[in-house]
Amino acid sequence: MAGEIPDFHGPHAAPPLPGHLVLTWYQPDRRASRIRVVSHTCECSGTTYELCSAAGLGFVRRTDRDKRTVHETSWTLSAAARHTFEQILHGEAR
Ligand SMILES: [Zn+2]
Repeated sequence: MAGEIPDFHGPHAAPPLPGHLVLTWYQPDRRASRIRVVSHTCECSGTTYELCSAAGLGFVRRTDRDKRTVHETSWTLSAAARHTFEQILHGEAR
C-alpha cells in the first residue's frame, strides 16, 4: 500500500503560549515493565511528546533527540495525563 503510515505522524505541539503552565519533568521512573504509547506528537520535530499508559496510570514522556534526553511528568490518573498532553499540543503547557 502506497503512502504514509499514519502512526508515524501525529499532531505538532504548538509553540508555548505566554504564561503557559510549566510542567515538572522527572527522570524516567521504570515502575512498570509495560508502557503503552497511547498518542504522540509528530516525530519530524526534535522533541516528541508521548501520552503513555502504564499500570493503570498515565503520564507524558518527552524525548529530546538533539539533547538525547528523556523525561516524564508525574504519573497520574489517565484522564489527567490526557489533559496535560492536550495542553502541550495547544501550547498551554510545557
Ligand atoms: Zn511533522
